[in-house]
Formats: sequence, C-alpha cells, structure tokens
Amino acid sequence: MTSDGAIQIPRRLPLLLTHEGVLLPGSTVRFSVDSPRNMHLVSQRLLKGTSLKSTIIGVIPNTRDPEHDTDDLPTLHKIGTAGIAVQVVGSNWPKPHYTLLITGLCRFSVSSLLKERPFLLAEVEQLDKLDQYTTPATEGVTAENGELGELSQKFYQAAVQLLGMLDVSVPVVAKFRRLLDSLPRETLPDVVASMIRTSNAEKLQVLDAVSLEERFKKALPLLTRQIEGLKLLQKTRKISPDNEKKVLTVRKGGVFPGRQFSLDGEDEDEDGDDTTALEKKVHGANMPEAALKVCLKELKRLKKMPQSMPEYALTRNYLDLMVELPWSKSTKDCLDIQAARTLLDNDHYAMDKLKRRVLEYLAVRQLKTSLKGPILCFVGPPGVGKTSVGRSIARTLGREFHRIALGGVCDQSDIRGHRRTYVGSMPGRIINGLKTVGVNNPVFLLDEVDKLGKSLQGDPAAALLEVLDPEQNHSFTDHYLNVAFDLSQVLFIATANTTATIPPALLDRMEVLQVPGYTQEERVEIAHRHLIPKQLEQHGLTPQQLHIPHDTTVDIISRYTREAGVRTLERKIGAICRAVAVKVAEGHTVLKSEAEHPTQQGDKAAVPEMPIVIDHIALKDILGPPLFDMEVSERLTLPGVALGLAWTPLGGEIMFVEASRMDGDGQLTLTGQLGDVMKESAHLAISWLRTNAKTYQLTNMMGGPDPLEGTDIHLHFPAGAVTKDGPSAGVTIVTCLASLFSGRLVRSDVAMTGEITLRGLVLPVGGIKDKVLAAHRAGVKCVILPKRNEKDLEELPANVRTDLDFVTARNLDEVLNTAFDGGFPGTASTHTHPQLTSKL
Ligand code: ADP
Repeated sequence: MTSDGAIQIPRRLPLLLTHEGVLLPGSTVRFSVDSPRNMHLVSQRLLKGTSLKSTIIGVIPNTRDPEHDTDDLPTLHKIGTAGIAVQVVGSNWPKPHYTLLITGLCRFSVSSLLKERPFLLAEVEQLDKLDQYTTPATEGVTAENGELGELSQKFYQAAVQLLGMLDVSVPVVAKFRRLLDSLPRETLPDVVASMIRTSNAEKLQVLDAVSLEERFKKALPLLTRQIEGLKLLQKTRKISPDNEKKVLTVRKGGVFPGRQFSLDGEDEDEDGDDTTALEKKVHGANMPEAALKVCLKELKRLKKMPQSMPEYALTRNYLDLMVELPWSKSTKDCLDIQAARTLLDNDHYAMDKLKRRVLEYLAVRQLKTSLKGPILCFVGPPGVGKTSVGRSIARTLGREFHRIALGGVCDQSDIRGHRRTYVGSMPGRIINGLKTVGVNNPVFLLDEVDKLGKSLQGDPAAALLEVLDPEQNHSFTDHYLNVAFDLSQVLFIATANTTATIPPALLDRMEVLQVPGYTQEERVEIAHRHLIPKQLEQHGLTPQQLHIPHDTTVDIISRYTREAGVRTLERKIGAICRAVAVKVAEGHTVLKSEAEHPTQQGDKAAVPEMPIVIDHIALKDILGPPLFDMEVSERLTLPGVALGLAWTPLGGEIMFVEASRMDGDGQLTLTGQLGDVMKESAHLAISWLRTNAKTYQLTNMMGGPDPLEGTDIHLHFPAGAVTKDGPSAGVTIVTCLASLFSGRLVRSDVAMTGEITLRGLVLPVGGIKDKVLAAHRAGVKCVILPKRNEKDLEELPANVRTDLDFVTARNLDEVLNTAFDGGFPGTASTHTHPQLTSKL
C-alpha cells in the first residue's frame, strides 16, 4: 500500500487456486484448502511471513471439476482477486487442511507464471485502480456522469430498496447498511454481488467485468432478481411486512433470503453432483432407520448451505463418516478349535494356563454364537505377550484386530466423542476404530485399562462401562454421531499390568486372566523359537548369516535384561541383528569391489565368515559391558543387609533392605520410596525385636539390652524409584535388623518374603510366583516364605522348583533360623525342630 492509502498490490503474487466459490473485492470469504500446492502456499508463505505484504495473495478460481483434479496445472482463469489472508486455521481432521479467511482487495490479471512449485507464483497486473474510487455512495455521482453515472445511481437505489425490505436488527443486514452508507459507489457491484444470493458462475461474470460500466450492468440484474424474489415471497406469505422480515432473515440464519426464488436453476445444481453422489452413498450404507433419517436431514441442510460456510465442511465430514461406518458390514467367523489351538501354540511358547482359558472361551463362543460372556482381561507385566495373544485370537477367528490404547486417557469424550457443537469435535476412539477396520465385528484390544485417568471432563471408565456392557452396547451412542451404533458384535479384550487400579465397576465386568512373567528357561526358549527368527526376518538376515548360540542367549538374559517379560530381550536381539546386518552389508560391498577389480588385493579379513556366531566377546562388543552383575553375594557382606522379594506391576523384583545405626535417642529413619504399609511393617519389626532382644541376644552399640537405647536407626530400601508398598517386607526388615543388632551376616543366597504380626507370626502374602521367579533370575538359592503360601509353589515351573530350596515359615523364629548360617542364637527351632527345608 502506498502512503496515501491507495492499495497497491505487489507485482509478484503467490496464487491460491480454489474450487470453492469466488472472492470479489470488498468481500470476505472462507476457503478450505487441502491440495498440495495450496497447502505449501499457506505453510511456506502465510505462516512464515511477518510483513503485511506477505499476507497478500492472489485467489484464482479454478473452474475444473475437483473430482478430476490432478497435480497438473489447470488452465488458470484469466482474472483473479488479490486478497489479504486475515485468518489461518489448521486442522488435521478428517485430513490435513487449512481454513483461510480472505478479504478481497482488487482484481488482477496474470501476466506470466514465474513458478509452479511448491506453490504458484505469478507476475500480475493490478486491474482495479482503487485510488480513483472516491465518491461515497450517499453523495451521488460527481466525476462520472453519462451512462456510468446513471447505472451507478440505479444500482444504488436498488440496493437501498433491498435494504428497506430487510430487518436491520440482523447483523448481516446492519452491515449491509453500513457499507452502503460508507463505500464509494464504484465498489458496490462487487460488494453487493457477494452479499446477495448469487451462483459462482454469476460471481465469476462480475469478476470478469473489468470495466466499471460492464460491472454495474452484470450486477444490476442480480440485485433486481433478489428484490423480485423477496417481493414474491412477501406476497405468498401474506403476512405483515414487519413479521415477514423477521421470518425471512431468521429462517435463513442471517443469510439473505431468496434461495428458493433465485431465478437461475444453475445455482441449486452447482454442488448438486457432489451431494447426489453423497446421497447415493447414504442410501447404500445400509444403516439402520434412525441413522438414515438423521443423515437425510443433514443432507437436506447441506444442500441449502453455501460451501463457504464453515458449517458446510462440518456437516460434510459428519456425513462422510456416517457413510463410511460399517453399519452392517462384518467378516465371517471361521472358528475351528483344533486350528485355534495349533495357532496359539505356534505363536506363543509356554503360557499354558492362559491358552487353555482362551480356547475354552472360544469353544463356548462356537457353541453359543451370541455370547454375552465376560470380557477377558489379561493382567501381567509388560512384554509377556498380552497384546500378542489378543492378536492371535483375532487371527483364529478370522476377524480384524484393532488396538485402542487407553493409557493416560482421562476424558470421557476420548471414548465417546465430542458433541458436534464443539469446535474440532471428533468421534471417540471406539467409533474411529470401527471406521479404521471397516467391519462391525472386529477384535478390539483395550490396552492398559488400569491406566485410565480421571479429570473434570468426566470419567472415561464410566463411558467404557457402557461400551462393555452387553445389555447396553447394542445401542452405544457416540456424542459425535448422536445416533446409536450396535457394538454387540465387537469382541473386546482388555489388558492391564495390575488389577489394583482398574476401576472396580469395570473390573466386575471382566474375567481376569493372570499372565505371570517367564522363567529364565522359558525366556531362552521364546528367544530361540520366536524372537530370534522374527528379528532375523525384520533385519533381512537368515540363520545362515547369524547364529546366536544357546549360551549367548542365557548371557543376554541374565546380564543385559532384568524384566518379567521378553521385550528388552527382543530389543537386545534386535541390536545384535543390526550390528550383524552392517557386517553382512560390508561383506557384500567388499566382495563386489573385488569382483570389479580382480587385480586389486581386497582385504580378505573384512569378509566375515558365515554364519556370524555371536559369542561372549562379540556380545560385549555389540551390547557394551553387562548391565547387571550377580550383585547379590557382593552386597551381603556387612551386617544389616537382607534380601527381600517385592511385587510390582512390572513383575517380581529382588529388594535389598539395608540398616545402619548411630548414636542418638531411639529415632527411626526410613528412606527409599516407601508406602505407608511399609512404614508400619518397620515399626512392627522394631517392636518385636525389642521385645525379644533378650532371647536373641540383641544389643545396642554399647552392648546394652535394649537395641534402641542411645541409638538411631536408619532403614533404607534401595533399587528403583518404584513405590514399595505392601506388607510383605516384614520378615526382611526383621532379618535385616536382627543382623544389625547381632552383628552377624545374613546368608548371601537367601531371599525372603512374608508379613509379620506383633507376636512374631508370619502371614501369607501375594505374588509368590512372580517373586520366586525374580529370586531365581537373581541367582538366589533359597527362598523363605510363609507357611500358608506353600500351595502357591505348585504353580512354579518344575525347573525353578528343583533349582531353589524353599523354607516355609510359620513364625519369625523359623525365619531367623534359616536366614543365618548355623541358625540364630535363641531361636527355639535350633534346638527343638529340624530345619524346615523342603525341596518341592
Ligand atoms: P504385552 O502386551 O504383554 O506388553 P506384547 O504382546 O507386546 O506384550 O509382547 C512383546 C513381544 O514379546 C511380542 O513381540 C511378542 O510376540 C513376544 N512374546 C511375548 N510372549 C511370548 C511367548 N510366550 N511366545 C512368543 N513370543 C512372545
């Protein structure tokens, strides 16, 4: 723009090609753009630029049918409108696009095209000389008399007449009046043509009219038509003009009335093709009555809406989703229990109990197809194959599989969608999932139901309940859809790490199947049967190129991983494959260059011998120094350390309990991410030891009979930032403190778990299998556990049972007696009972 206020557009303009309507100078139009060229224009020009000039772009109508739009450049319309982009809004749904609000400034013609990519850039010539438009419309004609003057006078009067027929309290009418009062007359044809009901073709004619005279001539009949249409409407309605005005304007939601009276039929048909196609799809989507009714209603609304209205896109998206949903599309179940058994066995090693239950579940389904049974919920540490079993179930049934991650979901609209009145509203994950799979009977895996959050936006668990409840889910209503969708054919499976945090109402609907961690041996088998072949294939290697011997696998498992599942193990194997893939590829290139230059001496040593065998040295080279050493024996070299076993949602863990004492006045300090129950256990342990100090010959630092006298105690539970709750550390704390107070070492190969009472009894605890597996992993030889947990040992794999000694204890006496070499002084059992060691 020049300093005197006249608009001067840049000589070089980026061009926006649009199908959607025509921008006339003086009007503001919303465009939705998604073609690559237009997207580049927005992202590289509009969003990057900082000056006012950079927001000026040329809008050129593209008359080619959008359906047949290709990447080729269409022939450009000769005249376009330069405009200022006053607003840019980006969205990714349902596909990436921008919505631009552009205010037209003036016409231009394209002199030459400078660039076609990434967006169009053209040299342009400005056609409207805006600085010459000077006369405010109200002051009549001054400069131009003659035909132009007459025309503009006529036009102005007609516009005033139209205004007189409308209700000024409607904002758009008020705006019209303001414009009429303040704008130069020369701009009226453009402004009025963009405000009254005109088709794109008519607007295009107005745009093409470069000379003012012609422009008035083109626009005047449109204005007259609008007035006649209104008059006709008033007559047919036979109501008082006052009321009628309101009816007219309100009925049209502020848009100028007269559509049904527009004189040209072309207008209605303009996007007719598009909507007829959509209508056909709506009828073909096989949706239930209620949904069809809603769709037809929306379709009717859509037909009446100008495309530039933001609501047009919303309604369009809604209808597109409705026709895409699999209302009655389903896959046919092909369930053969024998085949299912083979498939499950082939896909997964071990996990017999789980596989058995899954087969039972499938067998029942086969017998009773309309099964309204419980929802299976696999609970176990990460990486034990929960998702993978879910996927296998889908395969055995011949169904589509879709995973819905629920971790961190804390808004119920994530499940049930947003109402369409929200900006950026979307359907929820269930409906989205159905759209993705395209059938109404998929297997949905609801991953991590234990990690659902809660927030002000409503409780997602409640929404999920509705999804899972067989009594309700045949008419599940997503807020976005606002019509019921039948979910009863969907097979839901849930997974979780722990049942503790699953909302109780939800847990009630599910049948929990525990998937415990694997033993070392199972892990080795899984590695060789499944993980190694899978990783080899993923890295384009063959067993002839890479061999991982049994010993190496054991080494990877014990020295580079410490987990209940096999995910890290799989990752480590992946790392080995990558390293080997590089070697193999290098080998190829060396061989090739030798072939090309046979005379040149290639470095023979660079060609590795196949298969590349991963031994301990290679392992260290690839994975680095071992992450875990057998630390157990090293750490139990001082009095005041004992080895406990803890359960976490990630599987069992060994846990060192350390204690130290110093001069003080009987204070107890506890550190290391403790839950409340743990603190209580510590107090219990100390009280019991003080009570029995005499029997066990426990003393304070000076040798006094009360271990706490003049002494402060510090108990610490190192390892990990996991909150250690649960009472099961009781026996470990007692053992640790007994060691501290007696100055004796705890046996370095013993780990223990059990709750204690004030009277020294040992009570049963949970998670025995996971805990024992963790002890086994860590190389412990003997495990002390509560007597009443003896039955849990039956669940353990045979090899673990033979590798470990189990001592089942009824009271602390028995615990201490086992935990210290040669028994503990004062324990009754040293003298009376034989040691309760059993090899189960
Ligand atoms: P989760 O869902 O329990 O966290 P995944 O199902 O993602 O675990 O399993 C992680 C990886 O381990 C997958 O590649 C899976 O195939 C593999 N896996 C786990 N358990 C077994 C098993 N018993 N047999 C074969 N592969 C397994």
